Amino acid sequence: MTWQFFKQIPMSEKKKKEVPEDSKLDDIVESSRRDFLKKVGIVGAASVTGAAAIYAGYRHEKEKPSGEMVKVLTEDNRLVEIPKEQVKDYKPDLKALQTRGRVGLKGKKWVMVLDLSKCRNARKCVAACQGAHHLRPYEYHINTLVMQESHNTPAYYMPKTCQHCDNPPCVSVCPVDATFKRQDGIVLIDNERCIGCRFCMAACPYSARMFHWQKPKGEEADKGQEYNIELNVPQKKGTISKCLFSADRLREGMLPYCVSACPNGVFYFGDENENAVTNGTTKETVILSELLEKNGAYRLMPELGTKPRVYYLPPKNRIFEFKQWTPPEYIETT
Ligand code: SF4
Ligand code: SF4
Repeated sequence: MTWQFFKQIPMSEKKKKEVPEDSKLDDIVESSRRDFLKKVGIVGAASVTGAAAIYAGYRHEKEKPSGEMVKVLTEDNRLVEIPKEQVKDYKPDLKALQTRGRVGLKGKKWVMVLDLSKCRNARKCVAACQGAHHLRPYEYHINTLVMQESHNTPAYYMPKTCQHCDNPPCVSVCPVDATFKRQDGIVLIDNERCIGCRFCMAACPYSARMFHWQKPKGEEADKGQEYNIELNVPQKKGTISKCLFSADRLREGMLPYCVSACPNGVFYFGDENENAVTNGTTKETVILSELLEKNGAYRLMPELGTKPRVYYLPPKNRIFEFKQWTPPEYIETT
């Protein structure tokens, strides 16, 4: 995989055939750009730069300074403007990826809220996470557990991730500093340092970590790809893996994979410093403190003093029936 500072917009085979001659391209480039710029705000910066990447090969654009500026997000999360002609592909090496992965995003304190009254075990969050992190169907960074308070109350599903504890026991037991907590609240693992001792697995009270006993899924396909500490891909046999709050997506200004994939509005994600979280399904942004207070939010096992960054809203007023789920049989193909 080639790393780029800006996103490429993939072009379908059909579209490729429709690409016009050079003489007509000037007009199309200009009108497309105008349409783009009308729509962009802060989120649109990535789209503009994506468009710039598409047209990067167009020689007139490269040769003539247009005086046009584009907005880009820097690695330390500042929005800046640069001349469009200076937009270049960026391929960070392992050292750069390791350094920025350790530092995290300045000024942020990521937080997740899950509304259990809406979870129907659609498992889209699980699938999206497994796809992004190259995991098999029985390897989990997030899983939905069946919960039941008593025989008289109905069962419900509870998606469980790493809790990204502010006082993480997993970090303090690691003998080689392979697992660590960043300034933005995310607990990560450096698989390049991990020696596979599994002390962290034993220390985690939430069973949030998994061990790669076998060769990781897609090992052949991932060969030669630079290890990304914020994605834990390529995965490494004999090391630990777990939920990363999709640190790679947050860097690009996007919601985590699981949050975006849920069709039922279960997940909210946001920044505690801004006191705001966004629902991954409805995209509605709400005040974090109000959401927690009005709904009687709680954290898992608070008595341990781990201070999780994941909150749950109780499964009240459910309008759907609980359905038992049995995992399908998995046949190894790779
Ligand atoms: S949930 Fe477990 S793995 Fe995650 S930060 Fe807390 S102790 Fe560490
Ligand atoms: S398994 Fe890896 S991350 Fe966990 S404690 Fe050992 S070295 Fe640290």
